[in-house]
Amino acid sequence: MNISGVEKSYGPVHAVRHLDFELEAGKVLALLGPSGCGKTTTLRLIAGFEHPDAGTVEIGGRTVAGPGVNVAPEKRRVGMVFQDYALFPHLTVAKNVAYGLPRGKNREGTVEDVLELTHLKGLGDRMPHELSGGQQQRVALARALAPEPEIVLLDEPFSNLDAALRARVRTEMREILTDAGATAIFVTHDQEEALSLADEVAVMLDGVISQKAPPETLYNRPASRAVAEFVGDANFLPGRMQDGRFLCDLGAIPAAEVEVDSPEAEVMLRPEALVLLPLGHKLAAGEAEVVRRQFYGHDQLVELRLDSGRTLRSRVWAGSTYKPGERVAVGVHGPAVVFPVGTSRDAAKT
Ligand code: ADP
Ligand code: MG
Repeated sequence: MNISGVEKSYGPVHAVRHLDFELEAGKVLALLGPSGCGKTTTLRLIAGFEHPDAGTVEIGGRTVAGPGVNVAPEKRRVGMVFQDYALFPHLTVAKNVAYGLPRGKNREGTVEDVLELTHLKGLGDRMPHELSGGQQQRVALARALAPEPEIVLLDEPFSNLDAALRARVRTEMREILTDAGATAIFVTHDQEEALSLADEVAVMLDGVISQKAPPETLYNRPASRAVAEFVGDANFLPGRMQDGRFLCDLGAIPAAEVEVDSPEAEVMLRPEALVLLPLGHKLAAGEAEVVRRQFYGHDQLVELRLDSGRTLRSRVWAGSTYKPGERVAVGVHGPAVVFPVGTSRDAAKT
């Protein structure tokens, strides 16, 4: 799938400003962004429910939308899973799944195979309301996969499930997509969901893709401050590079080799990259005072104040207790990422 120069406005609203991205066959992409950034519009443009004002959409090597081209949604070989599943309530599970299949030619066999693939074997005669939320979602997925589409699009597929169920259901859905060898895009505003499920994550902010990268790269090497702030929690300290180190209020921090010509720059420090050490420890970058601490069980968030007055959040193992007023040494785990000050959120792309 390839999207090139796609734009879409609704009156004065630029829902999608400029989209350029591709997705390799067999990969699962998460489209991650805040509400209103244009995620649903992007899926609708790919599926053919909307026509782009500019640019082209290519699916399976075929141009389906562009100047003078507009292939009908049902001819695009796209499978959709809607947020509310949109199952036909009066049809059995098997009939829901068979819905998009051509008549004749081993239709029942295909339905049986897809029910097995989606872990719904034996439930073909049930009605949708007789199933759990997670099962209903798998029916929607089965219906989308049955005609063997070129690409499956899922819009916020887990938002209707309660938190306890969500983690299990999404792992299962990812396994099914992998087993089916499907190419898929799923939309989410949940960074944890995007990072844990996708092969690649595209961060969408204000109608453009700010960065598209594998989860680890996106998190550890965000291309801009906007991406760093949207994906995960981050501390920022101003300063400047000198001989491979970043000089700032915390001290001299080893930084990833970046070209920062700008005299003004800032370093990004993830809370879990800040380690608290005994005073005088040789691996410490500097010292700080504990301001407050929040205990979460699996870890704790310790708020620190540097002598300059700037504050930092550190996320550390919950085993040690830190008291407000206590002085600690602070070390930095791994090379830090440096951004020039004034990075435009649109400028950085990978
Ligand atoms: P997301 O799915 O990321 O929340 P959408 O793609 O639904 O975002 O919407 C992007 C922007 O386009 C929003 O400002 C939204 O209000 C607007 N928009 C979406 N669909 C329509 C429409 N049919 N008519 C007018 N404005 C729309
Ligand atoms: Mg949406």
